[in-house]
Amino acid sequence: FTVLALESSADDTCAAVVTSSGNILSNVVLKQNHIHEGFGGIHPYRAVQAHQQNMPIAVRKALNDARMNAAEVDGIAFTRGPGMTGCLGVGSSAAKTLAAALNKPLVGVHHMQAHALTPILTSAPNPPTFPFLTLLVSGGHTLLLLATSITQFRILATTPDESIGRVFDKVSRMLALPWSVKGPGASLEEFVAASTVQEDLALLMPRTMPGILRFSFTGLHSAVERFVTARGGTEALDMSTRHALANAFQKAAVGQLEEKVALALAWCEKQGIGVKHLVVSGGVASNLYLRESHDPILLVFPPAELCTDNAVMIAWASMHRFLTGNTDDYSVLIRPKWSIDDLSTN
Ligand code: ATP
Ligand code: FE
Repeated sequence: FTVLALESSADDTCAAVVTSSGNILSNVVLKQNHIHEGFGGIHPYRAVQAHQQNMPIAVRKALNDARMNAAEVDGIAFTRGPGMTGCLGVGSSAAKTLAAALNKPLVGVHHMQAHALTPILTSAPNPPTFPFLTLLVSGGHTLLLLATSITQFRILATTPDESIGRVFDKVSRMLALPWSVKGPGASLEEFVAASTVQEDLALLMPRTMPGILRFSFTGLHSAVERFVTARGGTEALDMSTRHALANAFQKAAVGQLEEKVALALAWCEKQGIGVKHLVVSGGVASNLYLRESHDPILLVFPPAELCTDNAVMIAWASMHRFLTGNTDDYSVLIRPKWSIDDLSTN
């Protein structure tokens, strides 16, 4: 079974062709971060406009790369939610129209479920076995989940405030770090990796809610902000101080993830739930410092390029529904707000 999938929930326009045996025939990601760089975040209207320009290009290229024409595809998948309303609309309209015109089945996919299932595709033939822990760390989410099947995710920890990915982005911008095609979060990692840090600023970083199964990265963000302000603003900081600050922030952020994972493992053990794997996905999972951290259980990471947004994961997450005939009506609507513990209608 061969699926053409479209993804447009945030700022990347993506299309891919994937088979039910896990063959990735094409993977097109058209990034737009250069458009949003000046706005301190994703500019909603510009993002919609870019998707409208790029989606036909992405679809054409995905089919060309896969050496297929649209009629040879067996099903069409798209990201149904969660995400930015206007952005989701572009991908969903394109997918629905394609499916209707070609008379092919259609599946609308939950974006975070797709991030969560990516490691099952990429660690074949030895995928993690249920139940496993899933850490989803991205631009919009910070979630620690207990996955008991491909459609059942229990939220063990999340955050009431900013996601870890956004805080990486904001701290990177606050320190005016060099631009990277991969975005500001990745440029912070590259900046730290390229330096030998002398000053140790670890003590500046607060430990967040020790012992409690909840994330918060706002405290780290504020700690960096206070330091920068006290030193007279970003321009007044020399490069080695910026290095030290970026390094302390990254260590504390990853440290918090490790601490909460340890708490979740302890909780599972108390419940008698045997967990062997920790699956990590979402944009922040491409961070090498995080990937090198050592947890007491088996860590499973997708390759970095499948951690950030892509349509391969959307195709893969739709597959079980195509194969069981559990497909969507062409009139299906997007769900911009959609919790991952509510996949029952899926
Ligand atoms: P969501 O999946 O929650 O809807 P999204 O799709 O915008 O959000 P992703 O593409 O999964 O998010 O991830 C983007 C985020 O990942 C950005 O906030 C970015 O800062 C972060 N990120 C990407 N690479 C790195 C890295 N190397 N280190 C830290 N953060 C990173
Ligand atoms: Fe994402």
